Amino acid sequence: FLARQEARESNARTYPRHLPIAIAEAAGSFVRDVDGNVFIDFLNGAGVLPFGHNHPELVRVAADQMLVETHGLDFPTPVKDAFIDTQLSMLPVDMQDRMKIHFCGPTGANAVEAAIKLCKTATRRGEIISFQGGFHGSTAAAMALTGLVAPKSHVQNGMPGVHFFPYSYCSQCPLGMSPATCSTNCATFLEHSLKDDLSGIPLPAAVILELVQGEGGSIPATIEFAQRVRAVTRELGIPLIVDEVQTGCGRTGTWFSFEQYGIEPDVIVASKALSGMGLPIALIMYDKAMDVWEPGAHIGTFRGNQLAFATGVEAVKIFQRDDILGNVRRRSEQCFGLLAPLQQHPWVREIRGKGLLVGVELMDPRTEMPAGDLAAEVQSEALNRGLILELGGRDSSVVRLLPPLNITAEVMETACHILVDCIDRLAS
Ligand code: PMP
Repeated sequence: FLARQEARESNARTYPRHLPIAIAEAAGSFVRDVDGNVFIDFLNGAGVLPFGHNHPELVRVAADQMLVETHGLDFPTPVKDAFIDTQLSMLPVDMQDRMKIHFCGPTGANAVEAAIKLCKTATRRGEIISFQGGFHGSTAAAMALTGLVAPKSHVQNGMPGVHFFPYSYCSQCPLGMSPATCSTNCATFLEHSLKDDLSGIPLPAAVILELVQGEGGSIPATIEFAQRVRAVTRELGIPLIVDEVQTGCGRTGTWFSFEQYGIEPDVIVASKALSGMGLPIALIMYDKAMDVWEPGAHIGTFRGNQLAFATGVEAVKIFQRDDILGNVRRRSEQCFGLLAPLQQHPWVREIRGKGLLVGVELMDPRTEMPAGDLAAEVQSEALNRGLILELGGRDSSVVRLLPPLNITAEVMETACHILVDCIDRLAS
């Protein structure tokens, strides 16, 4: 399989290089490869499977919907109506009547592009502010908003007018502050730049923010940083877009991560876990005051996936019935507890995250540089021992855990023991 696909599929695909297995089937938290080996899956379709693979209730709903209708485009359908109801009902109460939904094509990047376009249309401004280390997708504009420089260097910039500001990455503060002396200087720097005529930064159409940087290495923003970014954007009339593509749908312990920060965005971007089972769907929710698009202003064939609507409604029912948020909190505590012994390890810079978006950042203690090679060895050894893990962050030095949100205590324990043991053995 691996050789055949290597010869016929684009070189750009990444996972099989680091995780050389071909998957035959999957169920819940586990996948089985074509040779019959079983793995715990903490990659989890890059965080799209809140209940793991092939949840039987969702499979049934998808199959039933297939017999009803699969592609409704922009027409109203009962299942779309139910999905919109469900999504709005998951917002904080005071936002439920204030927000509108736009379906944006199948992927997170499509929704990021829509959010940017809406903000530019609403403000009639052109510049965007994004944060260092952030990830927003691989399409032209979403890539331009992404901190990672390498993919941009080959294609020139996909969208001019993006300005990057430091994020609250406190364990390696880009402004050289220590947490003890810092009073959120990264937000102060942003505020100063937005207000100072000499800063060279024009008033932007939007600020886009991940409240926990996922691909950037599972880095939660500090509350102070997020609140000051919200305060200054509100003061200056700049729409704040919160990218909840990875953090949304319960991953961090609340339905959306912004609920834990005491802030309300003007635009929410969501995708990955919305369908509950990995069906492609992406949307933006935005304040009705920004409802400036004329009919036809932002279209696309694959918007409004009826199967994803149906399973998305069912997923929220399961989510509430099975107290998934409670499970996220319990399993998160358990996970941080089991990983805690690594805190003293010289090759571990930091263990961090929110809910079940967790990362262990590895560094070389001699140079304090990111230890990407070690992370790759840990990933490879964990795979040999039956655990699929993701990497991210600087130089791919952060071992990332993205388990299903309904993970059991037993599976969490097994996975964390494998990870701790791999780091203990390999890092010395
Ligand atoms: N935003 C964030 C925060 C993401 O994590 C991702 C995907 N990892 C995207 C946007 C892009 O989503 P997609 O890959 O579905 O285009």
